[in-house]
Amino acid sequence: MTTTAAATTIPFFPPDLFEDDRDLLLDVVRDVATDPAQRFILGERTARFEELLRTDLGAEDVVACGSGTTALTLVLRATGITAGDEVIVPAFGCAPLANTVLGVGATPVFADIDPHTLVIDPDAAEALVTPRTKALMPAHMFSVMADMPRLRALATRHGLRLIEDSAVAQGAVLDGRPAGTWGDAGVFSFVQVKSFGGPGEGGVVVTDDPELARTVRMLRNHGQDGVHRFRHHLIGLNSRFDEVLAAFQLRRHPGLARRLARRAEIAAHYTEQFAPLAARGVVPPPPGTNGRCYYVYTLLAERRDDLRRHLAAHGVDSHVYYPRPLPHQPAFAHAAASDGHWPHAERAARQCLSLPIYPHLTDAQVERITEAVLSFPA
Ligand SMILES: *Cc1c(COP(=O)(O)O)cnc(C)c1O
Repeated sequence: MTTTAAATTIPFFPPDLFEDDRDLLLDVVRDVATDPAQRFILGERTARFEELLRTDLGAEDVVACGSGTTALTLVLRATGITAGDEVIVPAFGCAPLANTVLGVGATPVFADIDPHTLVIDPDAAEALVTPRTKALMPAHMFSVMADMPRLRALATRHGLRLIEDSAVAQGAVLDGRPAGTWGDAGVFSFVQVKSFGGPGEGGVVVTDDPELARTVRMLRNHGQDGVHRFRHHLIGLNSRFDEVLAAFQLRRHPGLARRLARRAEIAAHYTEQFAPLAARGVVPPPPGTNGRCYYVYTLLAERRDDLRRHLAAHGVDSHVYYPRPLPHQPAFAHAAASDGHWPHAERAARQCLSLPIYPHLTDAQVERITEAVLSFPA
């Protein structure tokens, strides 16, 4: 009985994510390995990949770098954010929102989130602006983009930089404008699990600001200008992009829209089916397509741990992103206001539960997941 259930459990992280692309991966490794250029980082493929995303997004510039996390670091460094400065970030989200700010010597100031969409609450953010505030760094969360029009207005009103952590939102569009292009700079991540993940590590910075792009380009390769080798204009870092990943992403990009559409289709089905569960304390994310991305599909459940056990018993794996708000993390608590309250972030950490939503889920699997959630007893 147990083994049967285990054998048929629908995993949250599919081990076969790249099975269909295995030949492609072997192909591009061979291409790069046998190319007479023998360039393995920042070569012609990286340049083509940057150009592809640039045209795709309608942005001025795209700079490929080592990861989504270093993309944020590069932007923070390029905007001159440093010790004594404050950056307002959401209290609920992934570690890079706090550790990149601390990493440049600045202080992350945690703002509470909207209780339903789980993204930063612009009013809470505005209440935290001080003379030391230099930037706002909202993140799109799971399936909903942050309220970029209001955050842009807020940034303008207070003379702040707007850094858009769009790492999970590739392909999302809000009011006709793509995720990643709302901020002074945006970032994407290509780590395996992301919607446009690949077989390795990588990220990009997206910006319309040529000066910012030029600085990020220098910083990613030890502060060199790309013309004079070993002339270091800035204290940079090593955050270069891999040619194998560039080749893989170039070949896989044409299928991205289809994979995102499949995610959106699954999400729409879940949300429609789960609407009546509110009476049982289970709330799906808001419906719609404007500003939605469906990297992760997250429910809020009053009896989250019971729901998780119930799903496991029905052969459905789930995941808790994130079990603690950032200001309650041991590594970041020292930076958080000691009298701070983040009730919505705290509730989200207690109630959030994410369901499988990868594009190669079959309709039958989607139905099994849906039925498992619907059969959660009141
Ligand atoms: C994944 C992620 C990052 C970091 O990207 P890496 O490529 O893993 O460094 C940053 N912000 C958010 C919101 C993410 O989900």
